[in-house]
Amino acid sequence: MTSPTRPEIPRMEISRFENGENSESETLESPATDAVRAERESSEFAIADSEFADSTIADADVADSEFSGAEALFSEAEEPDPAIPVPGAGIRAEPTLSARVRRNRIIVGASLALIVVVVLGVVIGNLLVAGDGSTPAPGPGAIVEPTATAHPVNGFDRAAHSLDDPESPWVVVNKQRPIVPVDFTPPDLVAVKVPHTWAPLLRADAATAVEAMFAAATSEAGLSLESNSAFRSYASQVEVYTSEVKSAGVAAADLSTARPGTSEHQTGLTIDIGAENGACRFNVCFADTAEGQWLAANAWRFGYLLRYPADKVAVTGYEFEPWHFRYLGTDLSTELHSTGVSTLEEFFELPSAPTY
Ligand SMILES: [Zn+2]
Repeated sequence: MTSPTRPEIPRMEISRFENGENSESETLESPATDAVRAERESSEFAIADSEFADSTIADADVADSEFSGAEALFSEAEEPDPAIPVPGAGIRAEPTLSARVRRNRIIVGASLALIVVVVLGVVIGNLLVAGDGSTPAPGPGAIVEPTATAHPVNGFDRAAHSLDDPESPWVVVNKQRPIVPVDFTPPDLVAVKVPHTWAPLLRADAATAVEAMFAAATSEAGLSLESNSAFRSYASQVEVYTSEVKSAGVAAADLSTARPGTSEHQTGLTIDIGAENGACRFNVCFADTAEGQWLAANAWRFGYLLRYPADKVAVTGYEFEPWHFRYLGTDLSTELHSTGVSTLEEFFELPSAPTY
């Protein structure tokens, strides 16, 4: 526990580990110490990020009328046969010309009437489509552009759950997307029955899944895991962040500790996991341990995501945290795994959140 590369551990936490990293002292059970021990994350000042769902209204093409063809048919007006003698031409020519004029007028009138009918039909059709606010029905030749919120994509419905509702299993929390309301408390927190350095709470589904994951690590690989932090309240995050700012300043604190209201831990869907022997606890070297490697390879099977990958600091806003896992449910974790997308921001095409 003497690695110099441990910016994510609050200072009080570091000193505690150095005084006996695997001792599970009673002080870990106190809420205040839990709070300090908790890594980081926060922000009452972060600006809410609202999503703007693009809606695309496809232009309905006004189909070319067949009037030109109809007109062509009509325009083949019979010419008087010059071979037929026309007695009294001066007198008979007048009725012939008048008939042609009348015929032409009828043709023009009929064509105009058809045009008016079709144009009215198109206009009324568009008004009806716009009125119900839904995607316009594509007419012949109409161009229907895909919208940004189109779903499902490749069979996976990316809009199956809210990204904003803090109770949603897919809620995305980062430095640009604070929890709303900022003091949100999950509705179904339960005790997680796993080895731990202090008593962990998670939402029911996340707790069940992590218990199964810990059991599988043991049965499949003979590994023993422990929880080092799970749900953290807004109040405890205030303590963590305030303490970090006092000791390191705002700039340094923001690199490792979430401001209150922007910590994923507040959702009750996030857990920091370590090896039960304490090796590399809250340290990037956890990624090189057997426990860290097993988790990185298998967490998706249980609905979890390694939330802050080493190569996505510019996207997530956090340095590599091989111990921090976020519950999403197996539908989404499996989709992420199979598509090779490693962050929620990228998968849902949300803005990167390197800073507040
Ligand atoms: Zn964490």
